[in-house]
Amino acid sequence: MAQHVSFFDQVNRNFERAAALTSHPRGLLDTIKNCNSVYHFTFPLERDNGHVEVIHAWRAEHSHHKLPTKGGIRYSLDVSEDEVMALAALMTYKCAVVDAPFGGAKGGIRIDSNAYNKHELERITRRYTFELVKKNFIGPGIDVPAPDFGTGAREMAWIVDTYTALANDKLEGAACVTGKPIAQGGIRGREEATGRGVAFVTREVCSVEADMTSLGLSKGIRGKRVIVQGLGNVGSYTATFLQEMEATIVGLLEFDGALYDPKGLDAAAIVKQWRDQPRREKSIHKLVLPESVQKLSNAAEGLELECDILIPAALENQITAANAPRIQARIIVEGANGPVTSDASEMLDQRGVLVVPDHYANAGGVLVSYFEWLKNLAHVRFGRMERRFEEQAYQRILNSIGARTGKSFTEDEMKALAHGADEADLVKSGLEDTMGPAYHNLRKIRAEKKVDLRTAAFIEAIDKIAICYQDLGIFP
Ligand code: GLU
Repeated sequence: MAQHVSFFDQVNRNFERAAALTSHPRGLLDTIKNCNSVYHFTFPLERDNGHVEVIHAWRAEHSHHKLPTKGGIRYSLDVSEDEVMALAALMTYKCAVVDAPFGGAKGGIRIDSNAYNKHELERITRRYTFELVKKNFIGPGIDVPAPDFGTGAREMAWIVDTYTALANDKLEGAACVTGKPIAQGGIRGREEATGRGVAFVTREVCSVEADMTSLGLSKGIRGKRVIVQGLGNVGSYTATFLQEMEATIVGLLEFDGALYDPKGLDAAAIVKQWRDQPRREKSIHKLVLPESVQKLSNAAEGLELECDILIPAALENQITAANAPRIQARIIVEGANGPVTSDASEMLDQRGVLVVPDHYANAGGVLVSYFEWLKNLAHVRFGRMERRFEEQAYQRILNSIGARTGKSFTEDEMKALAHGADEADLVKSGLEDTMGPAYHNLRKIRAEKKVDLRTAAFIEAIDKIAICYQDLGIFP
């Protein structure tokens, strides 16, 4: 029987595989690898029905090599100390790969968010924030949470409200958490950022002809058969953006089943229906779908269906040594954190499957969180000062071209061409500009060191973090 390896140990196995290929001293590697601090606390919750429950909650700060630390807060029954430590470590490496200047952190509360009503969730979230404030585990320059599995903008609004009520640094208070609603200091494009980033990464991977040829695929995202696991924040946007890029979404998987159509599903329409279903009554079997769509009640089998690209965008440990041999995809893009175990990753690599690792593939979320944090500290919306100026400059250029050529532009052409960038444009552009080039960097390391992409991404992260410690002069 396969030995159980904890999630944090799996992250560390991947770390060690890469560390062995670097020349950093052991002490430095251990300094990077270990989790700096973990805070586990419990508090009572009085339910609306009068019962009292004890809630278990954590926040782990994996690395303080850069401050603040950064990472989401998840609400799930699977939350444990091991899980938050593993996820905090992944945040450290993720931030390093995409140059978001943060250490890694992660928080979690062990609850099924669907089992509580809004008022109970608000009490839980505010009490959690209060505990973090008391222990100095939150603040714009200390540790900045964000949404994760089971949380969203609403929870972030409760967090910022509680924090600013308690904290002394009111001026910078909004920067204590990211993923907030726009009116609370959020940024346009944050909600869809992780999914959009995963879609950019997938497109970039498919753009390299040599890699596609060796995988037996053609170049380009167009027509690639994609299966996405998870219709939550990451999966739903990933599928929608990939459909816009003309990929064929052949499969969509959720907790209670799978949808499959080799001719392609209408991902955008399915996502819309899924979102419209009430939170506690969601079921893939209640969706109204064309007859050609096959429905499977075993969600896990969906991972093994025929496709070119598989995007697990739900939770960790989905592809293990047990089902890895049956995976038919040629490319796996990790939308979730840790969906492929380290054993499975090795097996897939040996079979020639290209696994694009989580701490690069899903880094779009934290990258846009970085933009939100900057916006909050600057107290100004991106594009506010220059958008109109840019627009007028383009108009002058177009008018001058018109005057010289004698062919003036129509009003519609003017509108389309002379468009000054607003916040949403800039966020999208910043995301695209980071995710694309980062891939080519990792490919280069992969080729030089003859390793898989995950190991290459770990080498990249370790080298970048090591620089911060080398300057201290304590390591030879
Ligand atoms: N929870 C997201 C992640 O795992 C985002 C973290 C953040 O924005 O700080 O990457």
